[in-house]
Amino acid sequence: MPHNVMQTYGRLPVRFANGSGAWLRDESGAAYLDALSGIAVCGLGHAHPRVTAALQKQAETLLHTSNLYGVPLQDQLAEGLCARTAMDSVFFCNSGAEANEAAIKLARLHGANQGVAEPKILVMEHAFHGRTLAALAATGNARAQEGFGPLPAGFIRVPYNDLTAIDAAAAAHDGIVAILAEPIQGEGGVRVPDAGYLQGLRERCDTHGWLLMLDEVQTGIGRTGAWLASQHENVTPDVLTLAKGLGNGVPIGACLARGAAAEVLGPGSHGSTFGGNPLAASAALAVLEALDADQLMARAEALGERLQRRFREGLADEPAVVDIRGRGLMLAIELDHPCGDLVKRALDDHLLINVTAQSVIRLLPPLIISDDEADRIGDQVIALVRGFVNDAR
Ligand SMILES: *Cc1c(COP(=O)(O)O)cnc(C)c1O
Repeated sequence: MPHNVMQTYGRLPVRFANGSGAWLRDESGAAYLDALSGIAVCGLGHAHPRVTAALQKQAETLLHTSNLYGVPLQDQLAEGLCARTAMDSVFFCNSGAEANEAAIKLARLHGANQGVAEPKILVMEHAFHGRTLAALAATGNARAQEGFGPLPAGFIRVPYNDLTAIDAAAAAHDGIVAILAEPIQGEGGVRVPDAGYLQGLRERCDTHGWLLMLDEVQTGIGRTGAWLASQHENVTPDVLTLAKGLGNGVPIGACLARGAAAEVLGPGSHGSTFGGNPLAASAALAVLEALDADQLMARAEALGERLQRRFREGLADEPAVVDIRGRGLMLAIELDHPCGDLVKRALDDHLLINVTAQSVIRLLPPLIISDDEADRIGDQVIALVRGFVNDAR
């Protein structure tokens, strides 16, 4: 193995050469069923014809010009995103962390415009917002932060899914300008908050004049069975971040804003060389079109229910399984003990899954999977969990 790549990842012993739909092939030609989608990125699966065609056409036409000039495909994508999310304006960047950096800068500038000297943002325990410094400061994971101090100040951490903690923070601190939260925590363990929690955040933001900023980098773009996970709860944020599934593998992120928040970042206040360039915008436009044309959000919702039902039946008598949860095709099985080794066992079985928060098996299959593929994922995961739990006894 060459070692010129910095060793920042614990990589599994496989290298993929090509893919199609929900399947990947390694360098020897062996096939693997993908129940992770590159961590919620390839929602349309691999080599989706619409995305491939859009990229081919755009590669022959124009890759990049700079945001010094008008970019028609970026305008078109912004319009498509705003129509689907009830937002008014979009800043394009290249990743989830960058989208959150834009949101954090927007919140701070919004505070500064109102004369708040040291604007503060409420963030959640177990949150994940990315690896750049401000996004890392907002992230609720001490291990990810370790050694990278001093981190930017101005974040107040509260427990997730706890509205009384928001009220306590409001009473205890001056200068709060925003709440930043995931509508379902992804890396933190696919934590689905109680019904009414997001609505409660919305109400508190309205009461105090704060911005509600939702990080839908993982939950957005149809993953949970709606364009946005927050739409299930009929909650509209003031600021919204997207990335992962937006380009189906082409790097693109977006920070969207609504109402007064949509006007905060003006000329010269923020920027990105690559953000929303013609190539990335063409891929994202193809993603939006495919999700609509193939009604993939309805599929995600139905398949998610089908898989949860299968897990509940297949694992009903397994006491080590403490919870089965999720929404659409963002699914989790939580065990009562750490199960990171399951990822390697699944790989040996030619199935790609993930374990997060040590004991939570996370599944993020492509939204294009067939019923048979979904059942196959379900049966394989059930067998893997049973085998793993038995061996641990
Ligand atoms: C993955 C993720 C990010 C970070 O995205 P990058 O593209 O890796 O920077 C931010 N927020 C959430 C909720 C994520 O799942």
